[in-house]
Amino acid sequence: MPPVDVKANAWFQCVRGCEGRYSVFDVIYHCPTCGGLLEVRHDIEALKQVSPEEWKRVLDRRVRTNEWPYGSGVWGKKEWVLPNLRNENIVSMYEGHTNLFWAQRLGQQIGVEDLWVKLCGNSHTGSFKDLGMTVLVSVVKQMMADGSTVRAAACASTGDTSAALAAYCAAAGIQAIVFLPRDKVSAAQLIQPIANGAMVLSLDTDFDGCMAIVKEITQDKSIYLANSMNSLRIEGQKTVGIEIVQQFDWEVPDWIIIPVGNLGNISALGKGLLLMKELGLIDRLPRLVAAQSAQANPFYLSYLSGFRSLVPIKAKKTLASAIQIGNPVSYEKAVKVLQAFDGIVDQASEDELANAAALADLTGMYACPHTGVALAVLFKLVRRGVIRSHERVIVISTAHGLKFTNFKIGYHEGTLEGVKALHRNPPIELPPDVHVVRDVILRRLEEREAASARVG
Ligand SMILES: *Cc1c(COP(=O)(O)O)cnc(C)c1O
Ligand SMILES: [Zn+2]
Repeated sequence: MPPVDVKANAWFQCVRGCEGRYSVFDVIYHCPTCGGLLEVRHDIEALKQVSPEEWKRVLDRRVRTNEWPYGSGVWGKKEWVLPNLRNENIVSMYEGHTNLFWAQRLGQQIGVEDLWVKLCGNSHTGSFKDLGMTVLVSVVKQMMADGSTVRAAACASTGDTSAALAAYCAAAGIQAIVFLPRDKVSAAQLIQPIANGAMVLSLDTDFDGCMAIVKEITQDKSIYLANSMNSLRIEGQKTVGIEIVQQFDWEVPDWIIIPVGNLGNISALGKGLLLMKELGLIDRLPRLVAAQSAQANPFYLSYLSGFRSLVPIKAKKTLASAIQIGNPVSYEKAVKVLQAFDGIVDQASEDELANAAALADLTGMYACPHTGVALAVLFKLVRRGVIRSHERVIVISTAHGLKFTNFKIGYHEGTLEGVKALHRNPPIELPPDVHVVRDVILRRLEEREAASARVG
């Protein structure tokens, strides 16, 4: 399958609109003129040389093909992601194309017929962070192949970024350095980069504290910064919105709800959808909902003030540990996206997120706490009549629940702080006596049937 015949090109440029263009293979994260973040810009006129119908055919044909690397959900859209990367440098583990499933039973319970869940956690390292890391690590590989002085890639993380960086670097033979806030990531998240051979630095601070240190360390240009202020990650993550539309045969849903912390992922979601609109593949946009933990809600507070400014806060402890962030780096990008998509920001308490995840689990899901935040916000918007019963709603599930075993155990033991667990299902401990066991089973079945008869 030959690549599409377009002279596509991409470069870094300031998000605030300053003039300069910089190579995506330069070690640069900020606009030298104003200090704003950079973003990857594409030669849209070149991409428009291919018709929307032809793009759809090309992208559809590549889905899950074994023709490397186009079967990846990211690299199947290579011309839109990073055309000037040589295929030999792509570091991919066939990320993307995660399942989008109809959450029929959960939808029925809350009164939304057309509810879908995009399981981004069904990925190599168990979160959507793989989508961005395949792009960033591929660029590092090409920089090194072309004689750059870069010798390692580093990130601060709330657990999932470090897992993805470590895995992709290990696949490429590049040293990863990860900065983790001590005791603030799950055991699974801590062991992932250890297993993948990263240099794991556990610091006695929070994510924002780790971020401040990694920014200092990466002043040394031989250590490449892999946090999402590096907009290469956004280019990979933007494919999730494109993929959702593609999975609906190029139909745009009404709502997409996504849990947010550092605000890179929602910026990416918006960027991908806007690109599709510019290229004529879609003619309308969904509304976006950014869901925050009430314990770490600077974006929500800013939304309430009409996005006048961002007031960084000290993020409090939350079960949704991957979004325990008080000073989100991609704030400006996210505000633009929320404005372009008629967006809403809302928040969920610990009690709400844990019970929402547990209710979803009872319909067959295994929701991570961040997905719980998105679900809890969905429930509220439905109750308030903002989201209506016939509308098509997508919840982006950002990580796999198996990374958060202690959250699940704590919930079912009833020991989570600030949570009144409404859907506990602890194991039943019994003697190995068939009569006792049979009695208990029959009694439980009757209780369940009586309860569902009451509900109707
Ligand atoms: C990183 C992450 C988020 C938040 O993404 P941001 O880009 O930081 O807003 C949400 N959920 C999970 C599981 C994550 O790992
Ligand atoms: Zn600038």
